[in-house]
Formats: sequence, structure tokens, C-alpha cells
Amino acid sequence: MGDIISKTPEDRNAACWQPGAEKSPLTAHDLGWQLVGGLSGGAINIGYEAVDRHVNEGHGEQTAMIWLTREGRRESFSYGDLSVLSSRFANILCDLGLKKGARVFMALGRRPELYAAALGTLKAGMVLTPLFAAFGPEPLRTRMEIGKAEVLVTTKSLYTRKIAPILKDLPTLKHILVVGDDAPDGCLALGPELRDASAEFEAVRTGPEDPALIHFTSGTTGRPKGAVHVHEAVLFHALSGRYALELQPGFTYWCTADPGWVTGTSYGIISPLVNRVTMIVDEAEFDLKRWYGIVEREKVQVWYSAPTAIRMMMRAGTDVAAPYDFSSLQFLASVGEPLNPEAVVWSRDVFGRPFHDNWWQTETGGIMIANLRGMDVKPGSMGVPLPGITAGIVETGNDGLRELPDGEVGELALRPGWPSMMRAYLNEQTRYDKCFAGGWYLSGDLAMRDTDGYFWFVGRADDLIKSSGHLIGPFEVESALIEHYAVAEAAVIGVPDETAGEIVKAFVTLNPGVEPNDDLERDIRGHARKRLGAAVAPREIAFCTTLPKTRSGKIMRRLLKARELGLPEGDTSTLEENGA
Ligand code: ATP
Ligand code: MG
Repeated sequence: MGDIISKTPEDRNAACWQPGAEKSPLTAHDLGWQLVGGLSGGAINIGYEAVDRHVNEGHGEQTAMIWLTREGRRESFSYGDLSVLSSRFANILCDLGLKKGARVFMALGRRPELYAAALGTLKAGMVLTPLFAAFGPEPLRTRMEIGKAEVLVTTKSLYTRKIAPILKDLPTLKHILVVGDDAPDGCLALGPELRDASAEFEAVRTGPEDPALIHFTSGTTGRPKGAVHVHEAVLFHALSGRYALELQPGFTYWCTADPGWVTGTSYGIISPLVNRVTMIVDEAEFDLKRWYGIVEREKVQVWYSAPTAIRMMMRAGTDVAAPYDFSSLQFLASVGEPLNPEAVVWSRDVFGRPFHDNWWQTETGGIMIANLRGMDVKPGSMGVPLPGITAGIVETGNDGLRELPDGEVGELALRPGWPSMMRAYLNEQTRYDKCFAGGWYLSGDLAMRDTDGYFWFVGRADDLIKSSGHLIGPFEVESALIEHYAVAEAAVIGVPDETAGEIVKAFVTLNPGVEPNDDLERDIRGHARKRLGAAVAPREIAFCTTLPKTRSGKIMRRLLKARELGLPEGDTSTLEENGA
């Protein structure tokens, strides 16, 4: 189960969580309200909390965002700048005759217009959906169709390549705004619109339950679902940023996720701004030396990334990291996939601090379980529920649902009612209703809680392998595989077998300079057998150059399985290589 990484005395002093401490009597709502302002009469607006509030409280001059362009330019935006830009955008929407609740989609890269438009949409009380600019026309079309998009903010080039061909299928889409000074026929140029629009806009007095965001899930297990979130979610964005990411006013913070994935919106826009940090926005894609350079140059204090990126860092080796100064880093966190224990230990060695794993979903809107500052990190564990969150391990049997004792594997479940929880799956009431039973929200993930109250991820319910009477979680096997010197990434699936029911098959990518061959295959299998025992270790290993991943960087095991069994691949709209 991995060694415990001991906290430093400094961490201990800053502890905000103690094992065995009394559960906070405050709800997530209470705790969130301590961190936001709200509008009079109980109204609350995410866009207002993110920018206008800070300006009203005298922090308009503080840097809100540092934008790093692909070409190496660096531009700063103060809270005042973002407030004005988002007000102008909100005025554009209102001048177009759009009303509260209108659906505004974004398909553009990480550039200032995206952030201004996102915040302006929220301030205008309209509903925001950011999509990955790298999506191909089909994933863009299906999401805009399901979400009944009325407005799209995009670029000229994306419009020409991806939107124009699908326009005829999108009858609800009335307005297309393109970044820059000239626009194709039928579109509005955002440049002059922003210059002409008034800089004065009073945030719409949205109620706590008014819809604010629709976010599509990553599509790892099947067709993506559109999760609807409301304005009071900001209470939890504020709280979780403070507790799970250690965000403090004035900190330099970098979330590497794109807003097309919920992480890039909840923790790449809303939470950092509500907590009044200075956030880094990098327009470019993953590039290791660039990333290390950004952490060093910008003196990033809190860094939020994902296991796929961390595994790429490990794959490149410590030599690449050695020349950089990471002493500014105070807190590192990771989300999206299980964080292998190996990666936690590696990052502590290289950055001086471990990546703190945390767990949540598009549906939960915010971080639910995390390795909080002040607690010992057990590499491989997702941590503990945030203050105000109740998590349990449950099993659904013939006589209903029961909570399992510590140490047993079951479905990870949460007591509903935290502010950023989804309020619906768009147009999918039955699928939504199925998420709830016996007073719990059911996550679809399998996990175990140890006697210290730490949660351990086992695998998605869909990915569980049943072999000769054993239940095998892919995460455990994958983590053992990547401990082998040659293995960079691993994904395991169950393949039907007459005697065992299923056998474990692993797909692995190798570290640079390692050549695949039969001896290596045997050696990796031998290593896995030693670590896991013969019943759990993979019987077969296939070497690959890449593993199929979603746009948010998650390994798609279901696709490996479908390909292995010659079955239809199902929804592949989020597959990385499907972009243009
Ligand atoms: P879909 O629901 O469409 O199949 P998805 O579940 O990958 O896609 P997201 O909401 O982006 O969509 O991801 C949430 C899921 O990611 C979780 O349910 C869990 O399986 C996985 N996950 C997130 N964080 C962690 C973590 N720290 N450890 C293990 N798994 C994680
Ligand atoms: Mg999911």
C-alpha cells in the first residue's frame, strides 16, 4: 500500500486537517459562504465573485492572469482588466437580444478572449459551455446539438475548418463571434465588438439554483453526458480551492488543464479567481522543458496537473528536470486518473514536494477527496473527503444498498447536497436518476477506505476484471507495471478466457531508448508476478507506441478492449486523435 510520506514541520504548522479530528459541524455551504461575498437578497453570481467583487473590494490592480503565448509573449491582466473585458462581452450578448439562461458555447484555445467571454457569459446570467478547440467537427456538433447552443465563440480558422461544414445541422445556433478584427460572412468580429461595447455592466442577480455551466464528461466510459451546474457552485469552488489546492490571495497558481475539460473551468478559471490568485494561462500544448521553464520563471507556487503529464515527466527522466529551480513550489496537486504511487515519490524527489492526488468528477463540479496539506501523504491514496463532504463505500445488493466497513472494496458514494453538485444530465433524466440510491450519489468508481479514513482508488466499475474468482482493479496492476524500469505507461483490461473467466492483459508503452522484445516481455511479466502474485499479474503484455486517450488525457481502456475483442468502438468523439 506504499510508504507514508511524512509531513514536514512546516506542513504540520499549516495543517488544516488532522486525522481523527472532529468532523466539521459546518456544511460545505457554510464554509463556502465564509469565502465569497454574494449579492444582496441572497443572489449569487459566479462571474461577479470571480472578478467584480475583487475590484469592488479594492483589488482591481492585482494581476489576475498572466497569459503566455505560443510564440513566447507574456501579457498581464489585472482583476480590473478582466472585469472590464468580461463586462464588455456581457454587453455584447445582451445587445444581441440574448436573455438570462441563453446557451453560450466556446471553442477556442487558451487565450484572453476565452476567459473574458466565459466570465462575461456568467455575469450576464447565461449558461457557459467551453469545448476543446482541438475537437473535430463531429464532437463539436453533437455537443452543440445536445446543449442547444445559441452562441458560439470561436476563431476564424476553427470556424472555416470545423464549424461552417456543420452549421446546417445546428438550427439553434444564432450568433457566432470570432476572435479578431475581421469575420467570415454570417459571423461577428469580436475585436471591434469588444472595443465598441460599454465597459459598464452590473452582474445579473442570478439565484443560487440558476444554471451557470454545462460541462460534458470526458467520455472515458461511453457517450459523454452534459452535467448541469448552478451558480451556487461557486461556494464550493471557493472552498475546495482554499482547502485542497492551498490557494491564497496573491499566490501564483498554474492549472495546466484546458477549460474544455471541467478541471480547466472549475480550477482553471473560477476557483483561482474567486480565491484572488494570479493564475498562469499557457496557450501552448504540453512541452516538458517549456513547462519546467514556466514553473521556474513565473515562480509558480501551486501547480495543478494530471497523471498523464506527470508520467511524461517521469518518462523524460530526472536529468531533464535537474537544471530548473523549483523552489517556489509550495503545493502540487493532480487529478483525472489514479496517480501511481511511483509518481508521488518521484515528484517529491524532483520537486521537493509530492503531487497531492485528488479525486472528483465532472458531475461533482469540484474536488471531493484530496490529500490535504498537513496530512501524511500515503502514495497511491486519493486522500480524505474535504470538509463538508461525506463519502462512503457502498454495495448494492438484492436487499438494497448498504455501507461497507473499512477495508472492503465497493462503490465510492457521496452524500448529496454540496453546492457544486450537478443538477441534471442534459436531456437524460433516467441516466441521472440512476446516479442516486439509498440517500447516496453513486460515482461509478470502485474504492476502499482504510482505517485511517484514507480512500484508495481501485478502478472504474466498468473496468474491473474478474479472473479465477479474483476481482482485480486495473490501477493496482498498472501501478506495479510502471515500477519496471522499461515501462512508461500501462493500461490493463480483462480478456475472456475459458478457464479463468477473464485473464489480465496489459498494454504498455516503453521509456525512450528501450526496445520491445520477448525477453523484455518476460521480464516485465516476471516483475508483475513478483509484485502482485500469479493470479493478478498480466498473462499477456502488448507493446504499443501510444495508448488511446481522451482529450483530457485519460486512458480509454474500453477502446483497448473493444479493439482486442473486435467489437464496435462505441463513442470515440473524445479520442485525442479525432481532433483536427
Ligand atoms: P465519462 O463519465 O464520460 O466516462 P470520465 O468519467 O472520465 O468520463 P470525468 O468526469 O472527466 O469524466 O472524470 C471523472 C473520473 O475520472 C472519475 O470518475 C474517476 O474514474 C477518474 N478520476 C478522477 N480523479 C481521479 C483520481 N484522483 N484517481 C482515480 N481516478 C480518478
Ligand atoms: Mg464519469
